[in-house]
Amino acid sequence: MRYLKLDNVDIKYYKYQTMITEIFRNRDVAIKILKKIEKISSNLRRIKLMHVCGTHEEIISRYGIRSLLPENIEVISGPGCPVCVTTPKEIDEAVFLADKGYIVTTFGDMLRVRGSKDSLEDIKAKGGDVRVVYSPSDAVKIAKKENNEVIHIGIGFETTAPSTAVELRNASENFSFLFCHRLIPPAMDFLLSSGDLRIDGFIDPGHVSTVIGLKPYIPLSRRYNIPQVIAGFEPVDVLMAIFMLLRMIRDRKAEVRNEYVRVVRENGNIEALKLMDESFQVIDVKWRGFPEIPNSGLIGKEKFYKYDARKKFDINVDEGKEPEGCRCGDILKGLIYPKECRLFGKVCKPENPIGPCMVSQEGACAIAYKYNIAYTAK
Ligand code: SF4
Repeated sequence: MRYLKLDNVDIKYYKYQTMITEIFRNRDVAIKILKKIEKISSNLRRIKLMHVCGTHEEIISRYGIRSLLPENIEVISGPGCPVCVTTPKEIDEAVFLADKGYIVTTFGDMLRVRGSKDSLEDIKAKGGDVRVVYSPSDAVKIAKKENNEVIHIGIGFETTAPSTAVELRNASENFSFLFCHRLIPPAMDFLLSSGDLRIDGFIDPGHVSTVIGLKPYIPLSRRYNIPQVIAGFEPVDVLMAIFMLLRMIRDRKAEVRNEYVRVVRENGNIEALKLMDESFQVIDVKWRGFPEIPNSGLIGKEKFYKYDARKKFDINVDEGKEPEGCRCGDILKGLIYPKECRLFGKVCKPENPIGPCMVSQEGACAIAYKYNIAYTAK
């Protein structure tokens, strides 16, 4: 692995050695990288890095990585949780269909996310047929056994879109998708172009990159002069990605580099990309907290319209309302940390979540609550 090349670093003493000994499986490597990060940061201005992956937020929080970084280096969380970026209107559409008496299938995290008023869990409690499944193929199997219509909420980034594409080919006439898939690079593009936040580098998501490879990120680096590093999911992967970004910032380079070389290939997963290309058309779509982001959503191509719930049913819902006081949108845009929402830990807790960021296991609020993270913006 690349990071094992970091040799010849004096590790006789490091201020966080005890903590690292406890939390990192690969202690010596972690110490070496942290020492490098500390050294390179001493000559840098204040730096803001963003990741766009719920699993990266989990790793960063669980291992206290923010507390190990120098004072001038900040890592913020972006729109990396697929459940969280789903809009209230999309939840309302699923609730509408379940309320009509159709079978709605979904992944577990979506059950408790409230739309403008109700969640799917509320409809289930009132007798609606809402079922939790582990994959779209489970939903397709249910449809083959039932006489009723079955609608599956097709959610997720590029990582899960290929499995939706497969099931478009296996579906029966009484099956359809409520397409809620989203694409990560257009959201990164939007964040950079909006100018709401100065981002100095991106930690790119390992899972998404396994599918899309490096190429979709390259125009962003060129257009916005921003470095990016694709990172894996061990704490040392994240540390190494941070170091690689800082090194590019120091050297004024704006490239896309791959720390997760043991999994991510330059061209991604060719088969999965071909399948997606044959199955989906790209559309402009709203994300929670964001306006419509150009080319950031997926629906089935025309030949699959009969499996598109929005085309099959007359779904009559309004624009959708955010829960009052919930600042998930600002968290997803990296503008605040969960603790800066006044409802965090008081009204809004995992047992009584107000917004999706406290529902989903990949949500920044749920993760911050779990690990008692008290960060506020630096
Ligand atoms: Fe929304 Fe709760 Fe997070 Fe606040 S703490 S932003 S209410 S999910």
